[in-house]
Amino acid sequence: MELNDVLRLVRKNIQNLAPYSTARDEYKGALGVFLDANENPFENRYNRYPDPRQLELKGIISGLKGVPVENMFLGNGSDEAIDLCYRVFCTPGKDNAVAIAPSYGMYRVAADINDVEFREVQLGADYSLPVKELLQACDENTKLMFICSPNNPTGNSFPVDEMVGLINSFNGVVVVDEAYIDFAAQPSLLTLLQEHKNLIVLQTLSKAYGLAGLRLGLAFADAEIMSIFAKVKYPYNINLAGMERAKELLARDVEAEIELLKNERLRVSEALEGFACVQKVYPSDANFLLVMVNDARGLYEALINKQVIVRDRSRVKGCEGTLRITIGKPEENDKMLAVVKEWK
Ligand SMILES: *Cc1c(COP(=O)(O)O)cnc(C)c1O
Repeated sequence: MELNDVLRLVRKNIQNLAPYSTARDEYKGALGVFLDANENPFENRYNRYPDPRQLELKGIISGLKGVPVENMFLGNGSDEAIDLCYRVFCTPGKDNAVAIAPSYGMYRVAADINDVEFREVQLGADYSLPVKELLQACDENTKLMFICSPNNPTGNSFPVDEMVGLINSFNGVVVVDEAYIDFAAQPSLLTLLQEHKNLIVLQTLSKAYGLAGLRLGLAFADAEIMSIFAKVKYPYNINLAGMERAKELLARDVEAEIELLKNERLRVSEALEGFACVQKVYPSDANFLLVMVNDARGLYEALINKQVIVRDRSRVKGCEGTLRITIGKPEENDKMLAVVKEWK
């Protein structure tokens, strides 16, 4: 799609929105006597409002991801970016969104909160991408299509050419959620942003980067779309303490942790496959395994009895009989494996 066609998808009231102008937008110098924002002048490190554009932290992330700062949005977790997709593109009570199922629960919750019809299309055999069915589920009011790759909770990635096919065929915005991309064997779609103006890529610092507690989610798209997100978000959506800690912690090397977790994923997967109660371990490009077992609920409770907490997905359509097990430290994984090994 051409950028202008994408911009026409933006809700009329958002196109016309005059954003809140913060005190720090008006004067950008670093030095001076700041009597503009009604702050308490006595220094305690946090007495000043943070940068509403988050340029310093975005600069660091830009270096990590190879994406310019103007193509980036920083949110209070990916959940803020998901919510903003609806608020920017979908008129409540009129527009709809299409998504794969089973997938991440927040796409539906955010649709419901925004009074946007949510249309789910079940994955195909072996959790394949239902390309034709997704396109058939769309009509003239479909503004968003959510694809999660690697997908939560199934763990698999979808072929890049199939996702590109959807981006080319759909006359709306395709949101590809790459929360687990750092654990995947295949590359991110970030390199496709330049030629596909209707693509929004979501990533997060919550998973591979190990910063779930700081709540920092990322969206990447064309600069004009990102500037619309910037004017709709709360002005100071990212707090100063979180940005400072992120800057410190992003300086460390997470590659070794990611490598260890990927090796553990293989070790745990092979061990599980040898146990009597395990019917299937689904291939995973993420930091968790979806495992089909005999009496999933019973095993879930047996694990809790040993203080091992996993996610019971057995009542999710398409995931019957499964548990979703996060890859932890080796000794944590061993504790889990010991319980599963003895299960009937
Ligand atoms: C964990 C997860 C996220 C991350 O959410 P945050 O709000 O950034 O912590 C996003 N998408 C999917 C599919 C996830 O599983």
